[in-house]
Amino acid sequence: MKHNFNAGPCVLPREAVEAAIEAIRDFDNTGIGILEISHRTPGWERVMAETRQLWRELLNIPDNYEVLFLGGGASTQFFHVPANLLKNKAAYLQTGVWAKKAAKEAKFYGDVEIVASSEDKTYSYIPKDYVIPTDADYFHITTNNTIYGTEIRYDMDCPIDLVADMSSDIMSRPVDVSKYALIYGGAQKNVGPAGVTFVIIRRDLLGKLEGERKLQTMVDYRTHAAEEDRNISMFNTPPVFPIYVMYQTLKWVKNLGGVEAMNKINVEKAELLYNEIDRNSMFVGTAAKEDRSIMNVCFVMAPGHEDKEKAFMEFAKERGMVGIKGHRSVGGFRASIYNACPVESVKALVQCMQDFEAANK
Ligand SMILES: *Cc1c(COP(=O)(O)O)cnc(C)c1O
Repeated sequence: MKHNFNAGPCVLPREAVEAAIEAIRDFDNTGIGILEISHRTPGWERVMAETRQLWRELLNIPDNYEVLFLGGGASTQFFHVPANLLKNKAAYLQTGVWAKKAAKEAKFYGDVEIVASSEDKTYSYIPKDYVIPTDADYFHITTNNTIYGTEIRYDMDCPIDLVADMSSDIMSRPVDVSKYALIYGGAQKNVGPAGVTFVIIRRDLLGKLEGERKLQTMVDYRTHAAEEDRNISMFNTPPVFPIYVMYQTLKWVKNLGGVEAMNKINVEKAELLYNEIDRNSMFVGTAAKEDRSIMNVCFVMAPGHEDKEKAFMEFAKERGMVGIKGHRSVGGFRASIYNACPVESVKALVQCMQDFEAANK
């Protein structure tokens, strides 16, 4: 058995995978596979509507927000967001390379103020002392820093529009959407496979720069939220199959009890692993304790044991662990334990760390 700790794309709920396989053979009892249907068939429009409805339900999204499913990944949102929202200046919290990349794209559209950065310590913590400039158009944060295992696990009060890249922790906990102007992310960490990008945007921001900046049709958020039936809204061909797998993944989240239940399970999984890291003499965590992510758990060999990194990697591999190599900028190990990662996998990794310690004492 394999234990999949990949950082993204990553493990999906078994149920979602099985449903997707079946839909490839026969979608909605049409006798035609989902890869071969028209996105204008009623059966597909129903999936679009239900998927949007699941987003609204699971995150309790207020009615004055639109939910969009786009292509291009979170990286495309790095410029879609400023293209649509940045008039003069934007503020960014630099908590990792994703945040840095987002800020870089914003510079094409206006001034960018980095209010704080944790680059000085390889992004191992979330800066706390900073002032959000009230003359900026928005403040951009990355709620979970996938590479470094730090997370902003609360919905902050922000005096200006708050924009969040939630690629790697969306649906892991309840979120007060009303505190955000816009939330976006790639689906491939917590809500589905690669190929679909979610955007949750407050309606009054649609067309914000009307008359001030001309936007390409596909870049303008209004294009994707414009249709009369907002639940079906498809300007062009959406990523049909990734949306279908996302639909099944969200149904799985709902059946488990929604994001409250998900959060409880995620906290339990993260505690199991962090407790072992803190207890085990061979390993140390890399992220500041108060900022530890419940999605990506980063650790390295403890001082004096650095030479055993390769050995542990081999040891873990033999026991079925997949994808635990840390990002090259942090080194060591990273276990991504997103929603769909079963607690059994976390327990297996903990056991593996204990066995490694015993074998090397
Ligand atoms: C993975 C990731 C991205 C990049 O997403 P793409 O969909 O590959 O463009 C951006 N931000 C965060 C926080 C991520 O984890």
